Amino acid sequence: MTHAAVAWGLARAARPRSPAPALAAARERACVVVAMLPDLDVLAFTLGIPYAHPLGHRGASHSLLGAVVLGLGAWLLLRRLLRGVEGARPGGLDLALLVVAAASHGLLDMLTDGGEGVGLLVPFSDTRHFWPRQPIPVSPIGLVGFLAHGLPVLAWEVLLLWPAAAVGALLGGAGPWRTRAWGAAALALAAAGAWAWRLHLIAWDHGR
Ligand SMILES: [Zn+2]
Repeated sequence: MTHAAVAWGLARAARPRSPAPALAAARERACVVVAMLPDLDVLAFTLGIPYAHPLGHRGASHSLLGAVVLGLGAWLLLRRLLRGVEGARPGGLDLALLVVAAASHGLLDMLTDGGEGVGLLVPFSDTRHFWPRQPIPVSPIGLVGFLAHGLPVLAWEVLLLWPAAAVGALLGGAGPWRTRAWGAAALALAAAGAWAWRLHLIAWDHGR
């Protein structure tokens, strides 16, 4: 859900630059979908592909090249679906947003403190990557795991990452520009505070 929230915020923020309603709505939906698709790779487990394999969970589907393929595929599909809709021809901005939305999935997974890391450079390197700090507790796989351990995880995700959706909504919304910009800045500042607090908690935990 957090992947969707961040991607939606990103796409929403672009509205003032490309406001055609049909295109904007389709672009936002497509960004949400491409940001969530990489986790379909959990099917690899059922096929017997190990986690650390380049085609395993958080492998090729979470890589930067995977994001380019996914974003380009979604962009071509959008162009086809919106063909004939007045003023709604997807362009370079839409392609860039789709690729960034898809790439955001792997880059955000690198912030989580579990699993075997993200194969960001598959197929050029099989190394799994994390950011130097991982403030997000890893989300349990499956519904049973989520119900048992997922709520604190979700709470941290909401605090640290969902402000991106609210900032996007403000930047891409209606109303006086100045009010929206101040609102977005205040929200970004609050989110930065939450990040500092979380990183402080982790450093304190490691120091004990
Ligand atoms: Zn993932």
